[in-house]
Amino acid sequence: MAGQSSRIHCEIDFERDGKHVGFLRVPNSVHRSAYGWLPVPIVSVRNGSGPSALLMAGNHGDEYEGQVALAKLTRALEPGQIRGRVVILPMANFPAAQAGLRTSPLDESNMNRLFPGDPDGSVTQMLAHYVETVLLPGADFFIDLHSGGSSLHYLPTGMIRISADADLAKRCRALLEAFAPPNAILLDMGGEDRTSIAAGLRAEVVSMVTELGGSGTVTPDCLQVADHGLRRALRHMGILQASPGPNEPPALAPRWLKVGGASAYLYASEAGLFEPRVELGDWVKAGQVAGAIHDPSTPWRDPVDVRFGHDCFVLCKRVSGQVERGDCLFQLATAP
Ligand code: CA
Repeated sequence: MAGQSSRIHCEIDFERDGKHVGFLRVPNSVHRSAYGWLPVPIVSVRNGSGPSALLMAGNHGDEYEGQVALAKLTRALEPGQIRGRVVILPMANFPAAQAGLRTSPLDESNMNRLFPGDPDGSVTQMLAHYVETVLLPGADFFIDLHSGGSSLHYLPTGMIRISADADLAKRCRALLEAFAPPNAILLDMGGEDRTSIAAGLRAEVVSMVTELGGSGTVTPDCLQVADHGLRRALRHMGILQASPGPNEPPALAPRWLKVGGASAYLYASEAGLFEPRVELGDWVKAGQVAGAIHDPSTPWRDPVDVRFGHDCFVLCKRVSGQVERGDCLFQLATAP
């Protein structure tokens, strides 16, 4: 589908200098609005030729930290502070972000499993296609700000993906180290090519994602990681020219970890109420009890223990105590 032109109209011209704000108009002809369009906010800040960055959030609509960080950056960033261009897409899957849901209520689609999208598909497919075929080819750098959303909570983390292109992989690593989140992950996602970071690497764009917390919240700590990280990353790209303010901390080396394969996820084996026995940031051992699943409807029965299969680091946990069989309880990392 890539190569076919998008039906989405952008109100702003990315080639013009200055700060321009407006909407992507996504055609959405529905009962209440026959020739209507959905307004996806987009911002371009440009000052002459130079490197170009695409900064995105709201790929999953219930991940709020990145949306707030990019709204703040939108108001703060002025053309005189930069060289080149910054394109900001803070609510990439706008219908999902507006609803505060991971997936779009219009087509029940998870944008991050839809790349490269489809110009003739559903709203989410059209948006993924626009990012892949219009925005990414115009970018040298790409940061997609995620978090744990409603169901998960992450330690603040930056992630890059293993790439066959050694030079691109090196530049992705340098970008992440400039962003300098407390934790850094090398993702081994096998053949999963439907995500934004896969799309970024397909376009040979230096790409990273973040996981900034979650639980459907915004916290000062996670926002600081995002705010400072974005500024350090924009400086690293050669885009942000303004020198760091007095409250901007220098980059510290992150804790490097690795995530990959089926063993990186620990799932609920039954339905019930989950009692965790570990916390985020714990190093755990193979065979150690991760938690117990209780069934208070038959409280005289013993709970079912869930155990870790290997020595690992607890990077991400499920938020809700209520679980169904197949729910992800923990995402696990290992030493790099
Ligand atoms: Ca996400």
